[in-house]
Amino acid sequence: MKYCPVCKTDYSDKAEFCKKCEALLLAKTAEKEPAKTDFKRLFRLCLYTGAFIVFIMLLYYLIVLIIK
Ligand SMILES: [Zn+2]
Repeated sequence: MKYCPVCKTDYSDKAEFCKKCEALLLAKTAEKEPAKTDFKRLFRLCLYTGAFIVFIMLLYYLIVLIIK
């Protein structure tokens, strides 16, 4: 499977150029999977950062309760 990097139209492996904008087609597996994993990594990083912030806030509230 190939796709056009300009208009994102899907094409078969036999096609070389996009029929709409004549751009050189790219192989789907080579181009789209790194972006997917990068997004997953970014999402996981956000999740960990969020969990860490929640943990620090809970710790802060616990300390405030103990001091009171
Ligand atoms: Zn195109």
